[in-house]
Amino acid sequence: MGKLVVAIDGPAGAGKSTVARIAAEKLGYTYIDTGAMYRAVAWKVLQTGKAVTDALIVDVVKDIEVLLEYKNDKTYVYADGQDITGEIRTPEVTGIVSQVAALGPVREKMVDLQRKMAEKGGVLMDGRDIATNVLPNADVKLFLTASIEERARRRFKEMQEKGYDVKLEELQADIAARDKADSEREISPLVQAEDAELLDTSDMSIDQVVEAILARCR
Ligand code: C5P
Repeated sequence: MGKLVVAIDGPAGAGKSTVARIAAEKLGYTYIDTGAMYRAVAWKVLQTGKAVTDALIVDVVKDIEVLLEYKNDKTYVYADGQDITGEIRTPEVTGIVSQVAALGPVREKMVDLQRKMAEKGGVLMDGRDIATNVLPNADVKLFLTASIEERARRRFKEMQEKGYDVKLEELQADIAARDKADSEREISPLVQAEDAELLDTSDMSIDQVVEAILARCR
């Protein structure tokens, strides 16, 4: 089996990163979490302490250096050399990331980096626009989804385990708002690529989804 390029897209909470990480480990591929890159930009925007405007975001993205490092099956995220891996999944970052990711200058810079990372193959990349825009020639294209209730439940469990005091209804509303923003934006909206295969994971276990991905790569 040659080194493939695998694209996995889908809405928030569909379980993409969980299954993509495990599948990458089994394949010996590099996992690239593109959402983490947009989160890194959002994190730096918040670090300025200023009111979040599109102008501020565009200013911040101009000289941010975002780096993803994949080692021992874990993704580390750096902004300007600082390890911010533990700081990009806070409710504050999640709250502005879709606004950040909707802007052209942000997307251009991140997509450039993402394409460079995939050049040599042997990568499994997840996001919103991977099959449609970043890697339209990917060998395997999957669109993972699940019901909004199930996605909210999964995020709830994840946040609780991290010690956040969150409410299920609020999480569901946040996810719905992010889905809407990501799907309705002008540049590279979240949409299933015509040649991507739809996988509804609502009633599937993590192992089953991983197996489905591996089967497409064989
Ligand atoms: O995957 P994750 O939930 O971490 O992504 C955070 C946000 O980053 C998404 O809600 C979306 O606004 C943006 N994103 C994007 N394109 C990608 C990956 C993520 O616009 N390829």
